[in-house]
Order: sequence, then structure tokens, then C-alpha cells
Amino acid sequence: MISIKGLTKKYVTGKTDFFALNGINLEIADGEFLAITGKSGSGKSTLLNIIGTLDEPTSGTVTVDGVDISALKSKAVAAYRNKTVGFVFQSFYLEPSYTVYDNVELPLILAGKVGNNREKVEAALEMVGLKHKSAEKARTLSGGEQQRVAIARAIVNEPSYILADEPCGNLDTVNSDNVMKILCNLNASGKTVIMVTHDAEDAFKARRIVTISDGKVVNDEKTA
Ligand code: ADP
Ligand code: MG
Repeated sequence: MISIKGLTKKYVTGKTDFFALNGINLEIADGEFLAITGKSGSGKSTLLNIIGTLDEPTSGTVTVDGVDISALKSKAVAAYRNKTVGFVFQSFYLEPSYTVYDNVELPLILAGKVGNNREKVEAALEMVGLKHKSAEKARTLSGGEQQRVAIARAIVNEPSYILADEPCGNLDTVNSDNVMKILCNLNASGKTVIMVTHDAEDAFKARRIVTISDGKVVNDEKTA
């Protein structure tokens, strides 16, 4: 479970303070599929990055499974990023010259697991329907396939939370549908999915929609 209390993020630009996040309070239960939506610049990525420890808040707390993540020491932060959360970005961020297999294996190696990874890597690739592409170089895949590899990489360490920032932002509708189906399947298999999107149709595939405006939660609703 994720509990966010009084979260702010301040940027100082010139002489004025600008609050990208302006007092976010949010509880996310295990097993939820949550869409965070709102206009460009409303603070969606800032919020997701703070949940993923890719950014630090100015004030407030994010508690994940009872642990205040801002209090984590560097080793624990690395473990948190590697094992508790799996991140999916709009721009995929694969290693283009690595094979699909090697891209997906990377988080296991970073977690210190060097032998016997084949079963886990292949299970993750199977989940996204790309086991048959294992030996291909990542750069030879289509954008939709690359995003599915990125999802396999995000889940290979079996994190409880999938954090996805505009995962369909660079994809056409067919590939977006594929990625959304995979996220729905992951949620159905028990993962908590938190997805940032400005696409209303994608947001409605989640089970709960939180709308952010000027760094504040302005709406929080369950979908049908
Ligand atoms: P969203 O993902 O909803 O489009 P972001 O979370 O990326 O929005 O950004 C929220 C606001 O914070 C935007 O107005 C953005 O310009 C501002 N912002 C983000 N990063 C910085 C930064 N490093 N310095 C100053 N302002 C920033
Ligand atoms: Mg963003």
C-alpha cells in the first residue's frame, strides 16, 4: 500500500517559487489500477517520479508498505527501485544494441542474480508476447514491441508496483491497445499499476482515475 501525505515539490525559477506539487494526499491500496491524469504540466510525472524515488519531494511523505521512502539509505533506494517498483517510460529507454533477452535480464543482474535467469526472463517475455524475439537486437523492434520489452524488464524482478509514465504516449492505437491489455493483465495477476496518462480513453481502462491540476488532486473517482 502507498500512502502519500502533504506532498509538495517546489522549483525556484528566478525570484518566484513554483509548486509543481502543492499538497498531494493519496492512498493507493494493493491491487489497484490507478490512472493519474491531468493537463500537461499539472505535476503527473513529478508525482510518479517521487513515488519511484527518481525525484525527491520538498515536503511531505510517501510511505510504501509501511516504509517512508525518503528515509531509505542509498543501498535500500537501489533495492527499492529494482525490486519494489518497476518503471515504464514513454520513451522505452532500452539498450538499443543489446538483445531483447539481455535488456530484460539487466535488472536481475543489477540485483546480483547472475546465473539461472533464463526462466524468469522468458516468463517476463512470455507475459508480453515477445519470447520469440529474445535474440533480436532491441533497436530492430517496432516501438510497440520495444515498449513491451520495457514492460518485461519492469516486471522481471516481480515488483509489487508498476509505475508507467505515458506508456502509450509514443504508440499508435493498435500498439497502445496491446500495451493497455498487458497492463490490465498485470493488474489482474495482482500487481498494483499506477499509470500516468493524458489520454482519457486509456485512463478509463484503469479502475480508478485521479485527476491532478496545478499540483493538487482535483478529482478521484472509480471507473465503472
Ligand atoms: P506533467 O507530467 O503533468 O506534464 P510535470 O510533472 O513533468 O508535469 O511538471 C510539472 C511542472 O513542473 C511543469 O510546469 C514543469 O514545467 C515544472 N518542472 C518540472 N521539472 C522542473 C525543473 N527541473 N525545474 C523547473 N520546473 C520544472
Ligand atoms: Mg509528464
